[in-house]
Amino acid sequence: MSDCIFCKIIDGSIPSTKIYEDEHVYAFMDVAPLTKGHTLLVPKQHVKDLLEMPEDVARNLYAAAPKIANAIQSAFNPQGMNTINNNGSFAGQTVFHYHLHFIPRYDETDGLKVKWETKQSEFTQDVLKSVGEQIREKLNQ
Ligand code: 5GP
Ligand code: ZN
Repeated sequence: MSDCIFCKIIDGSIPSTKIYEDEHVYAFMDVAPLTKGHTLLVPKQHVKDLLEMPEDVARNLYAAAPKIANAIQSAFNPQGMNTINNNGSFAGQTVFHYHLHFIPRYDETDGLKVKWETKQSEFTQDVLKSVGEQIREKLNQ
């Protein structure tokens, strides 16, 4: 897509620090990393987000993911690693070409704050059953 910065990174018209490339995917350093080694993995095919991703694109993308994660792990030996994908502006997506973030985690002072505030008390077994059923219905359509 002509006005997409990640398509331009893939075709080389915008420079990037590439770490991996194959026929289907491209991985490069995030220009504004949260931690040392923060990497983005993108499909070469322009796909806006996970909701629009064809299965073969997903297969090829995720096939490369462990390679990238293991390379980051053995380069910097972080204590853990978050892989995050934001879909839609409300969820924090700012570049509308699908990308999977690899964010190695080093200590409590690193650039990523992950806080889970569960709403478990609102989701009783009955509610969970009903919510699950609503999703299952869509899968079976
Ligand atoms: P999002 O918020 O959409 O999940 O993440 C977009 C990411 O792309 C951000 O972390 C941002 O730093 C990164 N980014 C945006 N523009 C560029 C660019 O031109 N080059 C690189 N390497 N990363 C970029
Ligand atoms: Zn694109």
